[in-house]
Parts: sequence; structure tokens; C-alpha cells
Amino acid sequence: MLSIIIPIYNEEKMISISIDVITKLMDSSTIEYELVLVNDGSKDRSWETIKSLSEHNEHIRAISFSRNFGKESAIIAGLSYSKGDACVTIDADLQHPPEKIIEMYDLWKQGYKVVEGIKLSRGHENFLYKCFAKTFYRIISRATGFDMQNTSDFKLLDREVVDIILNMPEKRMFFRAISAWVGFKSTHVEYNVQERIEGVSKWSALSLIKYAINNITSFSSAPLQLVTLAGIIYLIFAIALSVQTLVGFFENNSVEGFTTVILLQLITGSILMLAIGLIGYYISKIFEEVKSRPKYIVEGEIDNSIN
Ligand code: UDP
Ligand code: MG
Repeated sequence: MLSIIIPIYNEEKMISISIDVITKLMDSSTIEYELVLVNDGSKDRSWETIKSLSEHNEHIRAISFSRNFGKESAIIAGLSYSKGDACVTIDADLQHPPEKIIEMYDLWKQGYKVVEGIKLSRGHENFLYKCFAKTFYRIISRATGFDMQNTSDFKLLDREVVDIILNMPEKRMFFRAISAWVGFKSTHVEYNVQERIEGVSKWSALSLIKYAINNITSFSSAPLQLVTLAGIIYLIFAIALSVQTLVGFFENNSVEGFTTVILLQLITGSILMLAIGLIGYYISKIFEEVKSRPKYIVEGEIDNSIN
């Protein structure tokens, strides 16, 4: 069986359209499937919509979070709730073309354990957003050592891979990178990002920056080494300046150098504070992990397969 996992946050308008499209598509194929809907604490009527949809659609199984835990948690919850031998994760807004599910399924049948969805085009996004996304993926690719350019959360995972991911104790997971990190025989399908028909993207500029920082730091400790690098550069300058100062001192022509002192103080001060902030950020992440709170809290459940 194939599980199709759909994270949902404030998608009351989109959800019935996309469930309709996906159900029609899957019914026209011979694939046995279930739809795992995860309501990520929507503030609109998404959950009610899911409930009424599930009355006429026996493929739907759904859970609802007690509040918004984020897409990543919703996907993980969907994975652990799913029963399929393979899982596909897809957005609720039809920006990931559903027909690719069949293509992914065929590749899985050929023995691939991971099928990544790779964006051919990014759809309509403004220039600044594109630049930002490019920089983010460049950094994350270097940090992880995997080519993450144009990867997305649209992918198929074999049950074996799903179980490995679910058994990882880390709380803050970067789902997009983890499927590359686990290894296994993998391939990809390419797709063009579609336009959103209804509703709006949940991402603001600030939430994207947070998302970027969060994922880079959860996958890589390289930024911590930046602190060391800054220290080394500083040391080189310090040695050069010390030599110059000492030479001046012994030659009895040491300048007053007030400006230099002030500048050095300001620069050193800010670099030190930045460095401490950065280290603090990592400590706070360790703190989060150590607290071992659950990744999400499930409040409601709909399961047609029990009846
Ligand atoms: N989503 C979610 N929780 C959130 C934000 C988004 O489950 O906190 C879901 C959303 O309902 C959609 C998918 O994640 O199914 C992608 O969200 P969106 O379309 O807003 O992101 P974009 O396509 O702009 O990257
Ligand atoms: Mg979208």
C-alpha cells in the first residue's frame, strides 16, 4: 500500500480541491493507497472540512494537532501514522503535481528506496525570494555535503527508510536533507512548481530566515567554526599590529593612536558578542533537544479503516 501524506495548515479552500484531484488520480490507477492528512493546528475550518470529506472518502485517515507545530512535525507525524509500504509526502496546495506520485511509485517498484522530487522551475516567486532560496540551498548543500539545490518536501520513501527516520531521536529534523543523509538506493523525478490556486503561502520573509537558520544549524556545526576563523584572522592582525607598536615604542616615536584603539575596541566587541550569540544559539538548540519534549501533540483522529 502507498501512503500519501499531506500536511495541512489553514487550507480550508485548497483541501477539498486537492483531495479530489489526488483521489481521482489514484482511483484511475491500480495502486492501493491511503491518504494521511495531518491538520497542523489550523485556525480556519480545515479540520471540519477534513472530517466531512472523510465521510465520503474511505481512503482518508487523519490526525489533528493541538496547535501549530510546523510542517516538519506534521510530516513526521504523518509518517508515523501511515501504514503503507511506501510513503509520499506532498503539499496540500497542489503546487506539487500529483501525477508525479505515479511516476515515483513506478520507480519505487523498480527497487528505489528514496525518490526525491526535484524542482525544475520554482514557479512565480519574486527576485529577492529566489536569491534568498539560492543562497540558503548553497549553504545547506555545503553544510550537508549533499546537493540540495532544488530539492523539496515532495518525495517518496520506502517503509525501511521511514522507520529509520522515525527512530532518530532528534527533535528538530530537516526533512528535506534527512532523506539524502540516510543514503540507500535513490533517484529523482523532476517537476515544475505549480501556481497555488487558493489561499496564500504560509511563509513570511521572517519565517523563512528563521527556517534557514534553524535548518543550517541543525545540520551543521560549521558556523561555530566561523568563530574560530574570525579568531585566527584577528590573531594575524593582532601580531602585525603588536610588532608595529613595539617597533614604534622602541624607536620612541609611538603615535597617540586614539582612533585605532577605539576602532579595535568596537570591532573586537561586536565580533565577540556575535560569537557568543552564535554559541548561545547552539546551546539553546542542545537545551531544546535535551528537554525531549514531543515533536507534536495529537488532539483528534479520524480513521475510516477501523470501521
Ligand atoms: N504547512 C503546515 N504547517 C505550517 C505551514 C505549512 O503543515 O506551519 C503545510 C501547508 O498546509 C502546505 C505545505 O505545508 O500543505 C506547504 O505550505 P505553503 O504552501 O505555505 O509553502 P510554500 O509552498 O509557499 O513553500
Ligand atoms: Mg505551497
